[in-house]
Amino acid sequence: MNTALYYRLGAPWLRVHRVLRGFTPPQRGFHILTFHDVFQGEQESFARLIDHVIEHHGILRPEDVEKIATGTAELPPGAGRVPCLITFDDGYVSDATVAAKVLNKRGIKAVYFVCPALMDIPKERQNAVIFERIYEKQAIPSHRVFMSWDDLARLRDAGHTIGSHTMSHQRLSAISEAERTREIVESAAVLQQRLAVKPRWFAYPFGDIHSINAESYAIIRSAYEFCCTGLRGLNTTPVSRFALLRQPIDPSSPFDYQRLSLCGGLDFMYARAVKRLMLWTK
Ligand SMILES: [Zn+2]
Repeated sequence: MNTALYYRLGAPWLRVHRVLRGFTPPQRGFHILTFHDVFQGEQESFARLIDHVIEHHGILRPEDVEKIATGTAELPPGAGRVPCLITFDDGYVSDATVAAKVLNKRGIKAVYFVCPALMDIPKERQNAVIFERIYEKQAIPSHRVFMSWDDLARLRDAGHTIGSHTMSHQRLSAISEAERTREIVESAAVLQQRLAVKPRWFAYPFGDIHSINAESYAIIRSAYEFCCTGLRGLNTTPVSRFALLRQPIDPSSPFDYQRLSLCGGLDFMYARAVKRLMLWTK
């Protein structure tokens, strides 16, 4: 099924999902939302989604999730409300802009996952690298660039959490042991050196079950305290802190489709992959 068809099905799917939900007990857990490049033209729809999340779900800070995941705090009370943590992958400059324009004004703290080696590539070459490394030669909707180290330092100073997304956005399941170690461990060292903060969070590139394996997890565990996947699902207690499930959301998709992601209406498609991931991360 293509994306356009999924989007068209969003509204009726959401209605069916709500009816079915009426027959099951209220959900107890939290969601982690993932955004990629929030373009200038998407800032308004991004702000609208964030305000919807504040009103209907509630926002978690990274430190809230750290405490819940390590068992030192409980989920905030709220009948049937599933609060959300906001995260961004890849480190696009546009995501630093939405921090300044949307998140900081609302007092929201997010996690930014970045690739240190890609940020050091000269600006004029970045779009080509993004096309090859991140989009794997599929069409990119518009010219993209990464944020600078100064942008990243400003995010850190505003209280956001900086995590590693590997050194150079490699598929960890497809590279050698030595490369894997470099991508996972060295990226933490570079971030620590440049930002003077030891990164505790990691998110592996591409996020699907085929882009990760047990060997990578052994290294991730040695270098980080929390790891996010791109697999959809509700994070329930006891939380597996190395398999934090996330809901990718495109702010340019229809609002009903965004709300479908927010209430876990797409999770069933990931259930098998999540089961496999949990085996590696227990
Ligand atoms: Zn990525």
